[in-house]
Amino acid sequence: MTGTEIANAILKISESMDYSCRLPENTTDSSVEIVKAVNTLIENAQARDVSLNERLADLLDSRDDAHTANLLLRRVKKQLHERTTELDNALQKADEASTAKSQFLANMSHEIRTPMNGILGMAELLRRQGLNKKQTKQIDTILNSGRALLQIINDILDFSKIESGKFDLDPKRFNLKNCLSDIVELLRPTTERKGIAINLDIAPNLADYYIGDAGRIRQVVMNLAGNGVKFTDEGSVTIKLSGTNIDGESDLCIDLIDTGIGIKKDSLPAVFEKFSQVDASYTRRAQGSGLGLTISQLLAQRMNGGITADSEFGKGSTFTFKMRLPIDAEPFDEVVQKISLENKNVVLVGANDEVTRAHSILMQQHCIVTTTPGFGEAEAFLSAMPEENGPYITVIHDILSSDETLRKICSLREKFTAKRVPIALCISNGTPGDAKNCEKSGVQAYLSGPFQDDDLVQLITQILENINAHDGDNKIELVTRHSLAESASNNSIKTAPDTTTETETSAEPETDTTASTSTHRILIVDDSIVNQEVAKDFLEDLDCDVAVANNGEDAVKATEASKFDVILMDCQMPIMDGFAATAAIRNRQNGATKSSVPIIALTANAFESDREKCLASGMSDFLSKPFLPLDFEAVVQKWLP
Ligand code: ADP
Repeated sequence: MTGTEIANAILKISESMDYSCRLPENTTDSSVEIVKAVNTLIENAQARDVSLNERLADLLDSRDDAHTANLLLRRVKKQLHERTTELDNALQKADEASTAKSQFLANMSHEIRTPMNGILGMAELLRRQGLNKKQTKQIDTILNSGRALLQIINDILDFSKIESGKFDLDPKRFNLKNCLSDIVELLRPTTERKGIAINLDIAPNLADYYIGDAGRIRQVVMNLAGNGVKFTDEGSVTIKLSGTNIDGESDLCIDLIDTGIGIKKDSLPAVFEKFSQVDASYTRRAQGSGLGLTISQLLAQRMNGGITADSEFGKGSTFTFKMRLPIDAEPFDEVVQKISLENKNVVLVGANDEVTRAHSILMQQHCIVTTTPGFGEAEAFLSAMPEENGPYITVIHDILSSDETLRKICSLREKFTAKRVPIALCISNGTPGDAKNCEKSGVQAYLSGPFQDDDLVQLITQILENINAHDGDNKIELVTRHSLAESASNNSIKTAPDTTTETETSAEPETDTTASTSTHRILIVDDSIVNQEVAKDFLEDLDCDVAVANNGEDAVKATEASKFDVILMDCQMPIMDGFAATAAIRNRQNGATKSSVPIIALTANAFESDREKCLASGMSDFLSKPFLPLDFEAVVQKWLP
């Protein structure tokens, strides 16, 4: 091939880009080497072309994949957004439903509690009217059934609150051993009636004081121990406290062991389920809501613990409540005692187990304790003591406060002044009106029911503080369980009773012992006629002069027209509710000062938040309906001048 032919062939291939063409190699002339070289070049270009085409095809494929992936991603993103919006809406709806459920339960509870107050209150008043045996039994059945119904309402409310997470534990320093012995004492009357034993077994290695929610711990143990007592007809119920201490904390284990009816193994897990009752026939007899263990388990879990059950059918059960609590090692004196009891003279009067227990508690406080079996011996001892060594705090222990006891106290008071011999009366079974009678007889402190170590120490400390505060006179105010609780909690709003010249809110209701015989004026504010009558009848038993208002507006008018010693205020009422009425009464100007008449909320709203709302709105105290007669009388007496 000539040079020109070769050049033309190369140009043609280059233009057509057809690299499959080759130059003819059968030429015999000298161009054969050039032709071969050109063909090799075309062959390489062809190979490169094929490879490039393949790469291009691959690239196009991946571009398609990326596009598809991109589309997919966008779709997923959209779906995710839609799902998130749906979830947000569902969550909002669930929250609204939960709030509506809580509100419904609170409303339902209020609606049920209001007539229940009428039923229980009237039944209680009827019971006081000297009925025959059969009628008393019938009234007791009404009262027991009413209280059982109330328990169910309380359980349902409590359960819904805990389950919805709308509750916080309230950890504070408390004495665990005292808490357990308190529960034993509360259950003792029932165990005695049933003829079974109740024991408390406390391991010696544990601390006295822990930081925990005493109220909730008490609720759990009370439920487990209460079940033990309920389902045991023979033998015993034992509360056993054990545990190990690690780094300032204790792993605590409270076993509730009973020798009762027991539970079949296959039924055991179900007992923690809500509304479950294993043996319907027995349980119906024993009463209950089937919520106690569910609530207890939830509470134990909130305390980083739990409850397990073991049982042998027909032989008994053991429920084990475990929790971990921080130990409070702070010395007792620094926390509760402002005055040291060291070398203070205390004379104990009586000859029962309580006196022995009081003796050992006071010895631990380094008091100088003298125990005398009766009044005669106490009087002889006190007469022999030099006056300058006083005061001799005289603590009298008795089962009931009898006229005889009060008469002997009066006779002690005639011989010794309250400053020299302050008297405390501790009664195992107190009755309404005791505190008033004690005050009349010249007693400085009155404690009813089983007392704890702390109660007695605080009682004596408070008496000493009161003596110091009233240095120049004999008018020392009465210390009661309520006044101790008040000074301990310090969080309720306390106001002085309405006096002719109204003053600013003072810390404590004034106690005027000379006024205790005069009739007190009380205003009941309630839109329910039945509940007005219940409160009225209870108050008339307390010798009070009662006026009634049907709503807040009438109450405000009534307080403008005349003075009251105490106002009992319902919260939910038509026209003007209890909160608005309280605000109006408190803000009513009288000179430059505000009215400080004690206003006690008497409401069918039972939550702790309701109590807080009442106190925050200016009310002085709170009692939820239906109330026990003793609680009603105690709260009214607490605020009477
Ligand atoms: P209730 O208020 O009905 O007692 P709980 O939740 O406290 O509800 O208990 C659920 C059920 O577990 C009881 O009804 C009873 O059948 C069974 N149970 C609980 N404790 C005991 C026990 N100590 N002995 C036998 N059965 C028990």
